[in-house]
Amino acid sequence: MGIMELIDTHCHIDVEAFDADRHEVLGHCHEKGVNRIIVPGIEAKTWDRLGKICAEYPGLFPAYGLHPVFVDQHTDDDLITLETRLQTENPVAVGEIGLDFYLDLDKDRQQSLFEAQLRLAQTAALPVILHVRKAHDTVLSTLSRIPVNGGICHAFNGSVEQAHRYMELGFKLGFGGMLTYERSHKLHRLAQQLPIDAIVLETDAPDMTGSSHHGNRNSPEYLPECLTSLARLRNEDVASIAEQTTANANAVLSLS
Ligand SMILES: [Zn+2]
Repeated sequence: MGIMELIDTHCHIDVEAFDADRHEVLGHCHEKGVNRIIVPGIEAKTWDRLGKICAEYPGLFPAYGLHPVFVDQHTDDDLITLETRLQTENPVAVGEIGLDFYLDLDKDRQQSLFEAQLRLAQTAALPVILHVRKAHDTVLSTLSRIPVNGGICHAFNGSVEQAHRYMELGFKLGFGGMLTYERSHKLHRLAQQLPIDAIVLETDAPDMTGSSHHGNRNSPEYLPECLTSLARLRNEDVASIAEQTTANANAVLSLS
């Protein structure tokens, strides 16, 4: 295997779970070729800290957004703060934003925050990082009304048909640790059937731990395990899948 350049397109390296050993974790990442990491925002009160951590380490790229799962925490003022931050902090995307209809959360409020953030992404000409659970059709119809500069649908687990609709809107689909589980039949079929130019890799660390570290904290240094699973599922060599998924992430996020 030659030198691989991997991008973890979704990792919460800013959270407390990494406070004790963030430096070591990022060192391991570099040894394994995971040189760039996208760090999506969750709540306005953590954006400052997220920005500081990204500025401290090369290869960390911030996104700012209001995560739909924390809908009850977000205020309208947060949208104003976000608008300013998008102009001043130079993030790679707006995110993570979207709709979560799996949990019992206020759908109308989620929808209005989602639309407001799509409009901010539109104005800033930025891609978006989507969190979507049990809400792909609603998200897709919202995106058709409020088109943005593409983005990534993180931890994609919809249908092939929905995947193609995202692709038509300029989106890539994020695949991570769930690929490493033998029981993930639906996800395996998706990973086999979708064109490789639609796929990007992610860990979602510290969540969504893969099979070989089950029960422990997930880490961006495990990204190569997602890569290996994807290559095996598609019966292609690891280096070429690495190259293509990295190119996809670069293209959609305009990373340098
Ligand atoms: Zn996330």
